[in-house]
Amino acid sequence: MPISLPDDPARADVLAARPTLWLNPAYRSGPIPSGLPVSAADVADATAAWARLAPVLARCFPELQATGGAIRSELIEALALRDALGLAAHDGRIFVKADNALPVAGSIKARGGVFEVFLHAETLARAHGLPTDALDSPDARALFGRHTVAVGSTGNLGLSVGIAARALGFRAAVHMSFDAKAWKVDRLRKLGVEVHLHQADYTSAVEAARLAAEADPMVYFVDDERSRTLFLGYSAAAAELAAQLAAAGVTVDGDHPLFVHLPCGIGGAPGGVAFGLKAIFGAAVHCFFVEPVQSPCALVHLMSGSDELVSVYDVGLTNRTEADGMAVARMSAFVAEVMRPLLSGVFTVADDDLFRWLHMAWDTQGIMLEPSAAASFAGPSMLASARGQDYRAAQRLSGKAATHVLWATGGSFVPQEQFDAFVAKGAALRG
Ligand SMILES: *Cc1c(COP(=O)(O)O)cnc(C)c1O
Repeated sequence: MPISLPDDPARADVLAARPTLWLNPAYRSGPIPSGLPVSAADVADATAAWARLAPVLARCFPELQATGGAIRSELIEALALRDALGLAAHDGRIFVKADNALPVAGSIKARGGVFEVFLHAETLARAHGLPTDALDSPDARALFGRHTVAVGSTGNLGLSVGIAARALGFRAAVHMSFDAKAWKVDRLRKLGVEVHLHQADYTSAVEAARLAAEADPMVYFVDDERSRTLFLGYSAAAAELAAQLAAAGVTVDGDHPLFVHLPCGIGGAPGGVAFGLKAIFGAAVHCFFVEPVQSPCALVHLMSGSDELVSVYDVGLTNRTEADGMAVARMSAFVAEVMRPLLSGVFTVADDDLFRWLHMAWDTQGIMLEPSAAASFAGPSMLASARGQDYRAAQRLSGKAATHVLWATGGSFVPQEQFDAFVAKGAALRG
């Protein structure tokens, strides 16, 4: 049954798959409301859990030795990129949060998938009377080798969960949607992960993984549509960003707004990060999701105001995009509930622009992105548009010096030939 979206200034653009900015009428400025299924205390617990896991992470992944087991990325002030995007000093300071280069998984999924797999390993070890600070011991590995971790993914979550699971000696089963890139499949198979390819979209791949896991008590399912653990793993990025902003001399308060632009698929990664930021900065941080014009699942669902999940198919869109990290037709109900009062808005981007920005990031700053990861680059211009000015006026931000963080979500694991092809496509489009 096609559904009709309510009257809204962005509705016509959304239905015609034109890039646009939607402002969330349910947004409530201020601290995190009570009654949500997650709280600021959960974010603090997640941050503590990451610290507890750091020693074993450093032993499992040699690339983490330099940070003592912390999985973190740089915050880069992008002056050359700002110029190339046609922005000026009055648009504010522009930073790229370089999760494209996150160690272990090469995407923001390292903050979620690795977290959930290692917490599951702790739980299993405890249940079998093994010490939880030696998850890499021969006894623990023997135990994990009898267990499987399963996940459904368009690619990057599968990579993150597969890499983490295999590092601890688990078996791993990854169910991929039709849009999964071949190199992600190859990389997982080389690690000994069982990859199931589905001729269907992400939602169906997750469903297949869920059914397979339900049939077997030795299989643990990482549920990207419902997992609090993934969400909270991502949320710990907020404390990391806050420290980096402080180190860069950025003040965030009522007179110095922070705009954070987050690429969105199912919503877990951007939702978790945004929730963590709200816990720290409250009304001073303004979080926007960004989605492909054909896959704006968070936008259409939140715009609909419906309690039942609305998918992009329900409004006549195709969910076809080169941005495989965001090729999701139906958002997470859990994330929808949490983000409804906390999200400032959602903007959409066209695939061709993703390639232009991918080229720009490489050309100006040497930053290696995959198409999904360039989506946040639209943020500052969206906020400078007429509707963006409406938002600033309504929030009493007009004329205030802003800082923008463009979240770059993946790319450093893209094979060189594939990346060269992305760059060539972007160069051709820029002309
Ligand atoms: C997964 C992913 C996203 C979106 O995260 P969700 O949790 O699916 O919303 C964005 N960009 C990239 C590169 C990703 O891998």
